[in-house]
Amino acid sequence: MQGRAFVYTGAREPFELREFPIPEVAPGAALVRLTLSNICGSDLHGWHGDTPREPPTIMGHEMTGRVERLGAGVATDSAGEPLREGDRVVYSYFYPCRRCTPCLSHDQLHCTSRRIGAGRRKSDQPPYFTGAFADYYYLRPGHYVLKTPDHLTDREVAPLNCALAQVVYGLHEAGLRAGETVVIQGAGGLGLYAAAVAREAGAVNVVVLDRIPERLSLAKRFGADHALDIDEFESPERRIEAINDLTGGGGHVVAELVGHPAALVEGIRMVRAEGRYLVIGNISARHTIEFNPAWLVHLNRRMVGVGGYQSWALRRGLELLDRTRSRYPWGEVLSHTWPLESINEAFEHADRGAAIRTGLVCAPDLAVL
Ligand SMILES: [Zn+2]
Ligand SMILES: [Zn+2]
Repeated sequence: MQGRAFVYTGAREPFELREFPIPEVAPGAALVRLTLSNICGSDLHGWHGDTPREPPTIMGHEMTGRVERLGAGVATDSAGEPLREGDRVVYSYFYPCRRCTPCLSHDQLHCTSRRIGAGRRKSDQPPYFTGAFADYYYLRPGHYVLKTPDHLTDREVAPLNCALAQVVYGLHEAGLRAGETVVIQGAGGLGLYAAAVAREAGAVNVVVLDRIPERLSLAKRFGADHALDIDEFESPERRIEAINDLTGGGGHVVAELVGHPAALVEGIRMVRAEGRYLVIGNISARHTIEFNPAWLVHLNRRMVGVGGYQSWALRRGLELLDRTRSRYPWGEVLSHTWPLESINEAFEHADRGAAIRTGLVCAPDLAVL
């Protein structure tokens, strides 16, 4: 038995279709039949060659699917619910060792042997299926997996294990508290989620900045009080003034979810005195900016960088989706879906910034869209 994968072969090169043997499932592991895999902003960075990887690899880490095969000893999900073959699941794409110093200090995110199962491993050796742009995904022993509630669609849950868990964790790390004001730079998937997460955390004023009209109107439906078109201001200074006026002196928390370093120069100055600037979107090793440390010092601002999340954020995100399903249009963040076979067109399209988030349907017969 073989499964398909679309393999990364080099920066900006088309993904190549390859077939790999379906691996034996070790005790404690599980094999997932993927139904929906998304193109995350970091996949675009990766495809551009901004983050190192050695081809051939299977990229993609934002996904959902159904249990195809359970390894010996796996009878429940990570919340203790019975787990069976055929069940729909969501899961983290990294595997803490649970034995190193960070792991033993409840910091699985910084596990010294943190094994990422997506896009960094060569795909020409078992268990082959270590990324999302494929028919299968191999969940190694030590995985963190949760059963998907029946009434949530794949469209709603597929962005959970990266985008949504990322902002749940990020706003937690930024110390967001009830009654605070939040400014969000960028209304892509992460920015839209951040608006709803901030709202649910008790933010009293949520301001979102972007330039694409569809994103701005969606931001309002995700709980933003104000959605500002950045092109309506003649300079960054005017935008900073507008934020000051709307928030009474700047955001308690300002979140950078743009992915361009120039956003920092502006965003840090939208933070009020004693406030926090949360930086999530900038992951490239190549792009730098000029930065004046006085922007931090003079108003006692703090800057918080967050990449990845602790596993608890996945469960919290799932519970949030479940509880607020009728309150926010979670499923609409995935603005475009393509068949997995059209991955190259989908990447070109997503790369032009034409989508909020793009999904690749890996198994149309098994997906719950
Ligand atoms: Zn991602
Ligand atoms: Zn560890």
